[in-house]
Amino acid sequence: MMTITYPVKNGLYINMTNRCPCACTFCLRQNGDGVYGSDSLWLDREPTVAQICESIDAWDLTQFKEVVFCGYGEPTERLDDLLKVAAYIKSKSDIKIRINTNGLADLICNRETASSLQGLIDTVSISLNATNKEDYLKTVRPKFGIDSYDAMLRFAKDCTNYVSEVIMTIVDVVTTKEEQDKCRKICESIGATLRIRPYESE
Ligand code: SF4
Repeated sequence: MMTITYPVKNGLYINMTNRCPCACTFCLRQNGDGVYGSDSLWLDREPTVAQICESIDAWDLTQFKEVVFCGYGEPTERLDDLLKVAAYIKSKSDIKIRINTNGLADLICNRETASSLQGLIDTVSISLNATNKEDYLKTVRPKFGIDSYDAMLRFAKDCTNYVSEVIMTIVDVVTTKEEQDKCRKICESIGATLRIRPYESE
């Protein structure tokens, strides 16, 4: 059975796609099928917007603090569909909506994307992962190459104009204390909040 929505702690998570332009060295997709008690986040095929909305409707949203676009893949690979689903959620609930993303939406969609999140997305959590573009390329291995890091930072900065909360994350076990301090400074300059997250959660 295909898992489109699944609960994680106080959040209802949405798994829209398994596509991603990156191949992070620490990606959970390389470490087995299930996560957080779901059977599998590998999708037989990508669910339609209607199927995603139907899956959301099966849950009582008042039980959750937020809805999170996440899953085994990069949600902004389907940005237009994601925004349709977000608009549907907003039409029926005032629950907060977050996107967990690699921050490469502008490169994926080949346009400026942050402004389209306004009014639909409350929090954007972006994987920062490195203090410079060379290390980022080695760790994240984006198909867009060396320019990806700067594009991700630009997207993060743009998001601060349109989204109430912009979080940037790094994984604790793959960063040194010195790198974490540098990441904190990068976040401060952008206007984002740094979150050092444990390896297994995104
Ligand atoms: S961006 Fe996320 S889904 Fe894509 S390879 Fe990296 S960890 Fe995996």
